[in-house]
Amino acid sequence: MVVTPKRIFMDKVKAAAKVVGDKFFLSDADLQVLALALELKTKGYSPLVATDDYSIQNVANQMKIKFASLATFGIRFRLEWVRYCPACHRRYPPDYKFETCEVCGTRLKRKPVRKRLLKTNKEN
Ligand SMILES: [Zn+2]
Repeated sequence: MVVTPKRIFMDKVKAAAKVVGDKFFLSDADLQVLALALELKTKGYSPLVATDDYSIQNVANQMKIKFASLATFGIRFRLEWVRYCPACHRRYPPDYKFETCEVCGTRLKRKPVRKRLLKTNKEN
């Protein structure tokens, strides 16, 4: 059986991904995993997303979905990203709609601007 998340959860995941600036780094499959996790969480289940993908972990953290790294340690910091043009150094907000620089057309890169220490995840 293929389970597809309800649209509303996909929208919420996309919104959360936008906040942390990871939207462009998540595939549709990634977004669906997160949306399903969010849907289950909303229904009172306790989903755990197991992934080594930092973008997924960031977004899961933003939505307070528990995640576990496949490696021994998960992320201990939440990174917030800024997008920038490597050619002309113009900066863009994480929710900037395009993947290329509006000035020179270079493909944008991103870098972390802030690290926030995560609280220890305790089981509720
Ligand atoms: Zn540029």
